[in-house]
Amino acid sequence: MIIKPMVRNNICINSHPEGCFVSTREQIKLSKALAIPGDGAAAEPPKLALVVGCSGGYGLSSRIAAGFGYGAATVGVSLEKAPDKKPGTPGFYNNLVFDRDAKSAGLFSRTINGDAFSDETKAETAKALKEIATQAGVPAKIDLLVYSLASPVRTDPKTGVQYKSALKPIGPAFSGKTLSMMDGTFGIATADPATDDEIASTIKVMGGEDWELWVEAMDKEGLLSPQTRIVAYTYIGPEHSWPIYKNGTIGKAKEDLERACRDINKNYADRGKICRAWVSVNKALVTRASAVIPIIPLYVSCLFKVMKERGLHEGCIEQILRLYRDRLYAAGSADPAKVPVDEAGRIRLDDWEMRDDIQKAVLEKMEAVTDGNVFDETDLAGFKHDFLEVHGFDVEGVDYDADVDVGAYQDS
Ligand code: NAD
Repeated sequence: MIIKPMVRNNICINSHPEGCFVSTREQIKLSKALAIPGDGAAAEPPKLALVVGCSGGYGLSSRIAAGFGYGAATVGVSLEKAPDKKPGTPGFYNNLVFDRDAKSAGLFSRTINGDAFSDETKAETAKALKEIATQAGVPAKIDLLVYSLASPVRTDPKTGVQYKSALKPIGPAFSGKTLSMMDGTFGIATADPATDDEIASTIKVMGGEDWELWVEAMDKEGLLSPQTRIVAYTYIGPEHSWPIYKNGTIGKAKEDLERACRDINKNYADRGKICRAWVSVNKALVTRASAVIPIIPLYVSCLFKVMKERGLHEGCIEQILRLYRDRLYAAGSADPAKVPVDEAGRIRLDDWEMRDDIQKAVLEKMEAVTDGNVFDETDLAGFKHDFLEVHGFDVEGVDYDADVDVGAYQDS
């Protein structure tokens, strides 16, 4: 079949296998430049890594950089759909090419397709980690645990109750300018204030509870060690986005993620069971999860324009390479207290995004942009490209007029 992108309301409902392959391989290429610190004062790079939410966005880059950058054996967990008569989800193809290329490169990897929130998936993952460690000839201790889930729903494993997350403001209703990425037209997005139930449900889905359950499950299986470094991702963003993000339902969930980080450190690091857990504040980027947040297409299009002009632009892989090289495994990082953090103990990869000069220029652009100048004044083209690329489209070197045998892309 010939596969062309099907996009509605900033959501793409299909994917292109070959494009996902090429795009993932591009990240693999970039991650090979990740230097192993030869410095005794740097933490030892991971030999065994677990990435929860491994198939796209920040999680995929985290797995690629650990595997192909540091040579770690990796176990990845994600929830993706395999192709039947239609193409599978992009993450299915990203995982497939990751495992294939890892094998060719002599790296050990296992990908688990399952609901990360369930006890069964956690048990299956623990078993896989032990098997992969044996195959790779490394201790069955997780050196790096990355938690990078973005999900709209979660079933509580203890009660069986399903919770749905909401992207809503708390307090006054939200109204803000939005941008349709496909044609560059503006609209107004509105969102009613969240109810108390919606706030609590969003915390259940995107807060820190499941992260803590992962750490607990891995500890029970004896997979943690005083070398284990644990990280989960968050976003803060500029003040004008706070009504819908930081001060909204998702912001409350992210506050809970920070609460969980403190508790994990109290319960495990202080008892010498792990080295430490961190929350890393990452840059706003185009992923499947982020494109549906109302302010993101306009803000990110302006941000990309400004950051590219100043030579400061990064994608997921560049952010994660910086996380490993200059933070988690930087010079001096053998002592976890030397990992650079802000006053609240968070790793900041949004430091360049949040620079005063960058934010000032972005805000000016956001106020000045109109239908007439949107393609000149902003990097909407770059946003659109990244969005399509996340789904395997608009990738250089891929022939989109060629017939695709969807059935040929299956687990071998
Ligand atoms: P993404 O949509 O690209 O990836 C989400 C991952 O979660 C995928 O691997 C998906 O398969 C997996 N997943 C979802 N539900 C699952 C389930 N039930 N079981 C197993 N796996 C499941 O998302 P992303 O944008 O990379 O976000 C990852 C994290 O990074 C989130 O915590 C997000 O808040 C944070 N973050 C994102 C941005 C951004 O701009 N995208 C910025 C800063 C922080």
